[in-house]
Amino acid sequence: NILSTLGTGTFGRVRQVQYTNGSSKFVFALKMLKKTEIVKLNQVDHIKSEKYILGLIDHPFIVKMICSFQNKKYIYMLFEYLAGGELFSRLRKEGRFSQEIAQFYSAQILLALRYLHLNNVIYRDLKPENLLLDERGNVKLADFGFAKIMENDRTYTLCGTPEYLAPEIIKGKKIGYSKDIDWWAIGVLLYEMLVGSVN
Ligand code: ADP
Repeated sequence: NILSTLGTGTFGRVRQVQYTNGSSKFVFALKMLKKTEIVKLNQVDHIKSEKYILGLIDHPFIVKMICSFQNKKYIYMLFEYLAGGELFSRLRKEGRFSQEIAQFYSAQILLALRYLHLNNVIYRDLKPENLLLDERGNVKLADFGFAKIMENDRTYTLCGTPEYLAPEIIKGKKIGYSKDIDWWAIGVLLYEMLVGSVN
């Protein structure tokens, strides 16, 4: 059963869905990506990489993809359902967090990023909109649209969100950048959590 819309992504909606087996009910989040939009926005490689990476990783502070499938029009990714909403909404509502709360979230995000880096994955889009909360208040990294498996120490594509970009990403294609840019972004995020909005 397809239930409510949980959020709108770049290529389509994320819907809450329910699977019923006898008296047991299971709730998931289904991300639906419209193929024509992916092609139009030139994001075929990014989506392939998102699906591939999500299929490989398994960490308590990263959203779990259960499976993926497709039809003629859409690519579907089925995720565990995270009931707590976006960290972004909580931050905008409260303005800023106490040091203890900022420390708690940063520690969980840091563990998720460290796990990705140890598995040669660069994340490239850390921001409160991409951090979801589960029903117990733990944070989970979601949206792997810009994540990439690093074959070398450096990569060159300009991508991410302006406020969180490390200087080396915008310095030009020649020098490139490493996984360190995720640590820059966690610095911006920590500042935002303690001080308030960066935009
Ligand atoms: P896009 O990559 O296109 O930006 P996201 O993966 O960020 O799409 O999802 C868009 C929104 O849908 C999220 O910001 C969130 O509000 C909601 N959402 C995504 N995944 C889940 C999930 N597993 N559980 C609950 N809500 C989700």
